[in-house]
Amino acid sequence: MDMHELGVTQSIVEICETHAAGRRVLAVSLEMGDLSGVVPEAVAFCFEACIRETLLEGARLHIERVPGTARCRICAAEFAVRSYHDACPTCGGYQVEILTGEELRVKQLEVE
Ligand SMILES: [Zn+2]
Repeated sequence: MDMHELGVTQSIVEICETHAAGRRVLAVSLEMGDLSGVVPEAVAFCFEACIRETLLEGARLHIERVPGTARCRICAAEFAVRSYHDACPTCGGYQVEILTGEELRVKQLEVE
């Protein structure tokens, strides 16, 4: 288990508990970008351990992955990226602006 994902998952659980304000949480939807540096499977694994004896105990976890996309600052082309080091497929430039894929947030919370 990666300590990074454990810390991230603990933070997510804390955010959910704050929002739940004492109510039981039935389901959690997370938005997780492919460039966020977090492995969804690891978060799902840590989640089960982190929700024990919290308002989230027994809650369902839904992880929505967000693919990475970027826009070239030189030719304005928009394209899919897998990492921050991907070049523009149209002009070969490296000056790209990340549009999506960095998301790492609680999208939805279903409470009792
Ligand atoms: Zn370009």
